[in-house]
Amino acid sequence: MKTFATLEPLTTRLLEIQRINSAASVLSWDQETYMPVGGGEARAEQIAVLQGLAHEKLVSPDMQTLLSQWVDPATGQAAEQPGDSWDEPARSLLRETWRDFSRAKKLPSDFVVALSRECSLAQQVWAEARTKNKFSMFLPNLRTVLRLKREEAQYLGYQDSPYNALLDVYEPGATIANLQPVFTALKARLVPLLKKIAQSRVKIDDSVLHHSYDQARQLEFGRLVLTAMGYDFERGRLDLSAHPFTTSFHPTDVRVTTRVHEHELQSCLFSCIHEGGHGLYDQGLDQRYFGTPLGDSVSLGIHESQSRLWENCVGRSQPFWRFFYPILQQTFHEQLRGVEIDQFYAAINCVKPSLIRVEADELTYNLHIMLRFEIEQDLVEDKIQPEDLPAIWNQKVEDYLGIVPPSDADGVLQDVHWSFGAFGYFPTYTLGNLYSVQFFEQAKLEIPNLEHEIAAGQLLSLRRWLEQKIHRWGRMFTPAHLAQRVTGATVSPEPFLNYAEKKYGEIYQL
Ligand code: ZN
Repeated sequence: MKTFATLEPLTTRLLEIQRINSAASVLSWDQETYMPVGGGEARAEQIAVLQGLAHEKLVSPDMQTLLSQWVDPATGQAAEQPGDSWDEPARSLLRETWRDFSRAKKLPSDFVVALSRECSLAQQVWAEARTKNKFSMFLPNLRTVLRLKREEAQYLGYQDSPYNALLDVYEPGATIANLQPVFTALKARLVPLLKKIAQSRVKIDDSVLHHSYDQARQLEFGRLVLTAMGYDFERGRLDLSAHPFTTSFHPTDVRVTTRVHEHELQSCLFSCIHEGGHGLYDQGLDQRYFGTPLGDSVSLGIHESQSRLWENCVGRSQPFWRFFYPILQQTFHEQLRGVEIDQFYAAINCVKPSLIRVEADELTYNLHIMLRFEIEQDLVEDKIQPEDLPAIWNQKVEDYLGIVPPSDADGVLQDVHWSFGAFGYFPTYTLGNLYSVQFFEQAKLEIPNLEHEIAAGQLLSLRRWLEQKIHRWGRMFTPAHLAQRVTGATVSPEPFLNYAEKKYGEIYQL
């Protein structure tokens, strides 16, 4: 039997590439947290050089020679001789490395460097354009990035739509054909549910979240929740950034960021829990496999399932607040004196159509994703043009959510994704929402008294369960296979819809 150890000449090279990528990630983290604005252009060049180097190493003749010893280039599967086979980790490692290698091989190195540089620059221009509410300022960069991404899809090859080539990068196996029915099914039950909520006689007053809350104390509370979740500060940090994110250089150095607004208590709170969920995944990856696909997260949809599970299934649940609300009340005794837990629970679960995706409630969130899914498909397929985006965006927001953005900053310019070329990324957010409920339902079946534990502030059995079932496997299984192993089913909108109808049926007395 051949094993992971047999592949040492390969894993040594992969580790070196990973170290270059980790170094690039440190530079990106710094760019988003502490770098002075003036450093932008120089930083774009630094990151581009490292990404070009990592790419060159991955597609090197050396790597090709190594891989072709072990992988059948026609199928991408481990080549097995009669009487000699690979064990499962080795077979998965070869399958996934081949996937990365063959994809990278299709992209010329100068293209990779150009894409990296343009995305880095576009991201900085986008940030300024958003602040100034000036779409026209961002338009030339958006055109360039879109052109490069279309070119990338041509290099990669695809069936049916160039958008499929880009989707597959973030969510292996995802296509328009398999996502469309999921979105259609979601919409069919979400829209009537939202209508009922709008007509409900229960009107939630969430003004309690908008009193003045000391920012340092908000951060302190976020840190307390992260610690209870099992996020290890010996192997992580919490910093501030305009847009909360998680990045990892190694399972021993996984960093999360948050933002904090004096008059929006939910912002820092839920971004800490959300990013904490991502952070736990990265801290839970198997260190022995670091540098190889087995030490890497499996897909963005599964990654997002971890953040949404903690943020929504746990962080917006009654059991969680039975333990944490008294602590929050102590922290902000003036603002929360006399506010009952039920009132607070309703406030953090208030459903109303809003302009900003990241601040949307659990239900309307998916509508924000649907409209992005449609727009980016049309962009990549060249059915619409970047200059028409503000008008198209506003029309769709009105169609889906019944409101009209007063400005592009609160409309088409709100998300960073397109600026760094992440077309095909958005659907993974909805997949994450669906997976999160599927996983949490399964955890409730397998962990006795989970909800009692959560109500006692004991979050570690859940963390351990997720680590055992999901985190430690890295890319050993495909996303669909992993979901099948954990829950006995592939992704489906049903569990999420059942959960949503029950939870919001109670809150809004439908
Ligand atoms: Zn996330």
